[in-house]
Amino acid sequence: MLNLVIFGSPGAGKGTQAKLIAKKYHLQHLSSGEILRQHRDHGLLGKKISTYQDKGRLVPNNLIIKIIESAINQLPIKQGLIFDGYPRNLTQAKSLASVLKKRKQEVNLVINLQLNERESTNRILLRGQNSGRHDDNLKTLKARFKIYQDESCPLIDYYHSQNKIKNIDGRPSINEVFAQITHVLDKIVLTSNLKSQKK
Ligand code: ADP
Repeated sequence: MLNLVIFGSPGAGKGTQAKLIAKKYHLQHLSSGEILRQHRDHGLLGKKISTYQDKGRLVPNNLIIKIIESAINQLPIKQGLIFDGYPRNLTQAKSLASVLKKRKQEVNLVINLQLNERESTNRILLRGQNSGRHDDNLKTLKARFKIYQDESCPLIDYYHSQNKIKNIDGRPSINEVFAQITHVLDKIVLTSNLKSQKK
């Protein structure tokens, strides 16, 4: 069983890589940003979500935590997961650990996609021309980066202290980044297969 988190700044390529990883390793892709965007057009909750997203601020923990918990619990226990955009702060990370613990599982590995603010910004502005996303503009981006630094980066230490972080250089092409990731994941899958054979 493999539960992964893909971590990185806005525009680091989390969504792109998460989709490729999900396909290759048969994991369910859970993108908090996508799930929230699906709620945008629906009623009061949707309105509330859009207000936060459009300002580049985090949706309140109590809301996103419930949404993600229910998404997880709708999936079979045996389904491996890849979280993209979640957790984004310590409260969310601790909640994720406890939701997975109830399933007798944990986050096995956090892939930390590294890309500096200048390159991420360039990518997002390029994407903004086609994505139709309300938050892919320069003003919102400043807020998203600040929140990433202040609230999300402490997660690197949190997962590092659990020995779960793997840094990946996010600068090369999509395929090259994916090759770095599969190099890491193939080893993990192999080791866990060997372990389960021994049992
Ligand atoms: P990016 O990582 O490029 O900023 P996402 O699609 O992951 O894009 O997130 C877009 C927006 O959705 C965030 O700026 C925030 O408003 C909201 N959001 C996504 N994930 C979370 C989360 N885990 N907690 C709170 N808000 C979130």
